[in-house]
Order: sequence, then structure tokens, then C-alpha cells
Amino acid sequence: MIRLRWWTTAVVCLAAFPGVSWAQPDRDVLYQTSTLGALMIGIYDGPVTFGQLRQHGDFGLGTFNGLNGEMIALDGKFYQITADGIAHEVKDSTCTPFAAVTFFDRDHTAPIEGERSFTQLTEHLGGLLPTENVFYAIRIDGTFSYVKTRSVPKQERPYPKLVDVIANQPTFEWRDVKGTLVGFRCPDYVRGVNVAGYHFHFIDDARTKGGHVLECRLRGGTVTTDLTRELLLALPESEDFDRAALENDDEQATHHPE
Ligand SMILES: [Zn+2]
Repeated sequence: MIRLRWWTTAVVCLAAFPGVSWAQPDRDVLYQTSTLGALMIGIYDGPVTFGQLRQHGDFGLGTFNGLNGEMIALDGKFYQITADGIAHEVKDSTCTPFAAVTFFDRDHTAPIEGERSFTQLTEHLGGLLPTENVFYAIRIDGTFSYVKTRSVPKQERPYPKLVDVIANQPTFEWRDVKGTLVGFRCPDYVRGVNVAGYHFHFIDDARTKGGHVLECRLRGGTVTTDLTRELLLALPESEDFDRAALENDDEQATHHPE
């Protein structure tokens, strides 16, 4: 079922399937502002503040107006990883063009033992998840023998496409670091709306550094997942978004750099 609501933004709600616990209906929703497709073609400014965003979740990913870094929300705190890899707490008045958040409620926890690369880790996660057809918020707390991340520098108008920005992305490498991977697994069918598959950002235990994960080696840790069957897609009320050519193309379908 798809229904349209009008709040301060136009909202498309892919409503729930049966079997969901409704005890806390607002917590088990993945709330997203804008689409990956819009971000990819350079819609880097949005009207949604972090003060508004935190009403919809305490955990998630995204970026900032002007594409000014990578966003990580963890335990109710929102961090901006600037182009130097350093984490800063985000002010409520700061705005985002693209973000996805949820209230993280533990559905399943499992230890992860033995050293695993990022690919091996996501393969392992695949074996833990009951279905690929719903959304998961995933946090992995652990010790990493290696983490490689990237961030993105603030852009100026006219904005380049995301693929061109990340061609020159600053990257960071850390060894023997404790921290958390914060991310989502989205079903393949949301391609163009969000990242299909796994998407993780990293932040260290001291909450001082991180970024969008390109590679890692997890030495050991714990994975916690929060399954959700609801996606609330809030489309930004902005001229940039309304005028954007958002048809899905092959580039968007096969590359999902954010
Ligand atoms: Zn990212």
C-alpha cells in the first residue's frame, strides 16, 4: 500500500506488513529524507534540520548541506565527519540533503569471532539475517585491526555529481582501533532511493574520527540488528529537488558510492 500525506514535506509511506509489533509504532520506522538518486546528481542542499531529523531516530547515516562530510548518528548523538576525518557533534540548526535514521531497538545480538574483512563480514551478516527483503539497522561494536574510510569535502555551486566528488575523496586508514560500524542493509528493490545492500559509517570509541567505510578488518566484536518493515520517505520541499531529473539510470543502478 502506498499513501500520500502532506505535512511540512510531502511524505510517501510504504506502509507496514502484518506481524510487526505496534507497541512503539514510531520507533520501528526507517525515516529518510530525499533519495540517493537526488544526492548522486548533486542535490546537496535540503531544508531538513538535524533538530527535525532527531525526532525520527537516534541512529543512522547521511550527509550535510553542501555535501560537507559524512554523518553518523549513534546512541542519540549526531556526528559530522569532516573532510579531515575528524568527528564533530552536529548542531540542531544544521541542515541535511540526505539522511536515514531510526530509533535503534535491539532485535538480535551475536558475537563475531575471528578476523574478517569487510566482504567477509557482510557475507557473515547475510547468514544471520532472516530475510533480504526488509530493512535492517545494524551496529557492530568491536576491535578493528584495520579501518579505511573516506569523507567528502564541502562543495560549491554549481554542484558536481557525487561520482565526480568521490573521485578525489580524502581517505583515512587506522590500525588497531576500537569503534562502531553504524549502518543499514536495504533490499535490492530500493535502488535509487537508498543504497541497495550494506552501507556503513565508522566512528571510533572516543567519538573523534571516522567516515564512510571503504574497507575494514574486524578482529572481534558484537553485531546488533534492528529489523524494520516500514520506510517513511520524506521528500524535501525544495526547488532543487522539484526541478531535478530523477529518472533512474544505469549509473545510479550500478554505482552507489554514498
Ligand atoms: Zn556513506
